[in-house]
Amino acid sequence: MAAAQQYRAETASFMDWFTQRNPGEPEFIQAVREVAEVVVPYMVDHPKKGYREAKILERMTEPDRVFIFRVPWMDDRGVFQVNRGYRVQMNNSIGPYKGGLRFHPTVNLSVLKFLAFEQIFKNSLTTLPLGGGKGGADFDPKGKSDAEVMRFCQSFMTELCKHIGAVTDVPAGDIGVGAREIGYLFGQYKRIRGNFTGVLTGKSLTYGGSLIRPEATGYGNVYFSREMIEHVDRGLDGAVCSVSGSGNVAQYTVEKLNELGAKVVTVSDSSGFVHDPEGIDSEKLAFIMALKNERRGRIKEYAEHFKCQFFEGQKPWGVACDYAYPSATQNELDLSDARSLLDNGCKGVFEGANMPCTHDAVAFFHENNVMYAPGKASNAGGVATSGLEMSQNKLGLSWTREEVDGKLTGIMRNIHQQCVKHGTLDGKRVDYVKGANIAGFEKVAQAMMSQGLV
Ligand code: NDP
Repeated sequence: MAAAQQYRAETASFMDWFTQRNPGEPEFIQAVREVAEVVVPYMVDHPKKGYREAKILERMTEPDRVFIFRVPWMDDRGVFQVNRGYRVQMNNSIGPYKGGLRFHPTVNLSVLKFLAFEQIFKNSLTTLPLGGGKGGADFDPKGKSDAEVMRFCQSFMTELCKHIGAVTDVPAGDIGVGAREIGYLFGQYKRIRGNFTGVLTGKSLTYGGSLIRPEATGYGNVYFSREMIEHVDRGLDGAVCSVSGSGNVAQYTVEKLNELGAKVVTVSDSSGFVHDPEGIDSEKLAFIMALKNERRGRIKEYAEHFKCQFFEGQKPWGVACDYAYPSATQNELDLSDARSLLDNGCKGVFEGANMPCTHDAVAFFHENNVMYAPGKASNAGGVATSGLEMSQNKLGLSWTREEVDGKLTGIMRNIHQQCVKHGTLDGKRVDYVKGANIAGFEKVAQAMMSQGLV
C-alpha cells in the first residue's frame, strides 16, 4: 500500500474506534482527530518504536480517571442552587496533572476532555515535568456577587480537595476563573487540608503567586508569533492586529503587541466586538482591564466611551489586519471567517485560546499559506509559568519579573524550535500542527513506554 493510503486507512480506523467509544463528545473528537492525523502517520513511519503495538495513542486518549460531582451552594436570595463539577485527570506520565479550571455554562465532559487532552501535548512542549488535566463547572460567574462566587468556590473545593495535591494534581485558572476565584479556592483548600502548599497556580503575589503569571499566556503567544514571523523574515513592528476576547489572555496579548510596536484594532466578548481603527493604546487597555476585571461590565462600554463602532453578536474576523490572535474560546473562527481574514490581507493566525479555529479553518490556512500556530504551542506560556510558580513554591523563593519573563521567552523560543525541527516541510515552510504534535507526543510516548503497561 502506498504510504499516503496507509496513513489515511490507519487514521480512519483509529478514529472510527475512538468515535464509537466517545459518542456525543464533538470537541473531544475534534481535538483527537487533529492529533491522530499527524501522529498515526508518524507511528507508521517509525515502527521500531513499538508505539502501535503498545497502543500508546489508544491509552493517551483514555483519561486516567474523571471525577464528576455535585456542587450545591446558596445564592444571595437564600435560594438553593446546584451545579456540576468536574476534574479530568488525563495523563501523568511526565509529571503531576496540570491544567486549569473553567467556570462557564458551556462546560461539559466533552469540552473538558478535549482541553485535558490538549494539555498533555502543551505541557510536554514546555519541557517542564507537567502531566495533563483540566476541570471546572457549568457555573456562570457573570452577574453573581463576590459572596456568591465565594460560596460556590468553597463548595466546589470541598469536593475537589480530595483529588488534588502539590505532587498529584495542580489546577490553575481558565475561562471564568481568575485571581478572585483562585483566592477563594486556595483559602478553602487550606482550611480543609490544613497545609499551605502550592496546590493551585495563578495565586496572588501575597500568598505564593509568581510575577508574570497573569501576563504569561498573552505575552507567550506574542513571543511565539514573533518567532514565527521572524522565521520568514518579517517583523511585528507596525503590523495591524486583530484580537478576540477581552479577558486575561486577550488583555496581555494587546499589552505585549503594543510594546512591540504593533497596533491592535479589535477586542470582543460574548456579546460582540469593538473596532477601534486608531488602535487600543495603553490608556484604552487600562480602561478594558478596569471594565473586565473590576466592574465586570460588557465590552460595548468601550465603544461608547471611546466613540468607536460596536458590532453586536459578531466576531472580529471581517476586519482588515496583518495578524489575528483569537483569544476567547473554542471554535470561534470557522471556514468563512478564515476566508474573510485572507481576503482582508491576514498573513498569520496565532491561537491564544484553546482550539479557537475549526478543523476546516486550519486546513484553509494551510492550503493558502497563512501562517498558523496551534494553541498547544502558542498559548503554552501560561502553563509554563504555572510550572515556574510551582518551582518557586517548592524552593520557597520568588523570582524577579525579569527572571520569569526571561525564562518564559526562552521556553517560547524552545517550543518554536521544536516545531521547526519536527514540522519543516521544505525550505523555511513549517507545519506547526505537525511540529507541535510530534514533539509533544514523542516525549510522553517515550515516558509511557518506559513505565510499562499502566
Ligand atoms: P477569561 O474568562 O479571562 O476571558 C474569556 C474571554 O472570552 C471573555 O472576553 C469572554 O467574553 C470570551 N468568551 C468566553 N466564552 C465565549 C463564548 N462562548 N463566545 C464568545 N466569547 C466568549 O478567560 P481567559 O482569557 O483565561 O481564556 C481565554 C481562552 O484562552 C480560553 O480558550 C482558555 O482555555 C485559553 N487559555 C487560557 C490560559 C490562561 O492562562 N488563562 C492558558 C492557555 C489557554 P464574556 O466576558 O462575554 O464571557
